[in-house]
Amino acid sequence: MTPFDELFESEGPVSLPQGIKIPNISPFHDAPVTAVPLRGADGVVLGFWLIDGTWPPGKKIPFLEELEEPLTMLLQRERVYLELSQERDEYYQRATRDMLTGLFNRHYLSMEGKREIHRAKRYGYPLSILIADIDLFKKVNDTYGHPVGDRVLKEIARIVRQQIREVDIPVRYGGEELLILIAHTALAGAASVAERIRAQVAHHRFKINGRAFTVTISLGVSSYHKGDTLDSLIKRADACLYQAKGSGRNCVVTEEML
Ligand code: GH3
Ligand code: MG
Ligand code: MG
Repeated sequence: MTPFDELFESEGPVSLPQGIKIPNISPFHDAPVTAVPLRGADGVVLGFWLIDGTWPPGKKIPFLEELEEPLTMLLQRERVYLELSQERDEYYQRATRDMLTGLFNRHYLSMEGKREIHRAKRYGYPLSILIADIDLFKKVNDTYGHPVGDRVLKEIARIVRQQIREVDIPVRYGGEELLILIAHTALAGAASVAERIRAQVAHHRFKINGRAFTVTISLGVSSYHKGDTLDSLIKRADACLYQAKGSGRNCVVTEEML
C-alpha cells in the first residue's frame, strides 16, 4: 500500500514520509507532513487537512477536534457546488451541441450568430460565413450504409475543427451541411479557410469498417455587408454553395464569384 492508498483508507491522521510529492500541493513537499482525511457523511474523502510535522499514532493534534467539523462542512459544500456546476455544464453542452459531431447546433448559431453580427456592425470588423455540404452523400449512405455515413460526418467535423481557430463557430447546420462563422475575417481570408478545409477533406482517406474511400465537399462563402442579417448572410453563402454544386462539386465559390 502506498502512502496515498493509506490516505484514502485511513480514518485518522497519516504521516507522510519526507520528500513525498503531493499532487497540486507544493508547500509541504520537502518536510514531513501529516495528512488528516476529511470525510463527508457518505464516507467519501472530501479532502485532507495537511499539518507540518509527523504525529505518532494516538498523539493529539492541536485544533484537530475543533477544526475537523467546520473544514469537513466547507468541503462538503464545495463538493455539492462542483457537482451542480458540472451538471449545469452538461445541460449547457447538450442544449448547444449536436450529439453526433460535437459541433454547435442551430439553436446556438441563432443566438451567437446574431450577437456576432451585432458586434461586426457596431465595431466595424469583418465577419464571414462558410457553408459546406458533402458531395453525393446519399451515395455514401447507399454504398456503405447509414452508420458509415454517420462516421464520415463525424470525421469531416473533426477535420473542420482542426482547420479553424478556437474562436470560430462550427455548426452542424443541417443533415450533412456544416456552417462555420468566422469573426474578424473578410471574404478573402474566409475563402482560403474554405479552400484549406476542402483540400483536407478531399485528401483524407476514410477507413471505416474495413472500407477505404474518399469524400469531397463543396463550400459557399459570404461576408457581412452593411444591412446584412444572419439570414441574409446565410442565404448568400447558400447561393454560393448551390453554384459550387453546379460547377462540378469539390470546389469553393465566394459571393464575389456569383
Ligand atoms: P449533393 O452533392 O448534391 O449534395 O448530393 P447529396 O447526395 O449529398 O445530396 P442529397 O441532399 O440528395 O442527400 C443528402 C443525404 O445526406 C441524404 C441523407 O440521407 C444524408 N444525411 C443527412 N443527414 C445524415 C446523417 O445524419 N447521417 C447520415 N448517414 N446521412 C445523412
Ligand atoms: Mg445537403
Ligand atoms: Mg450533399
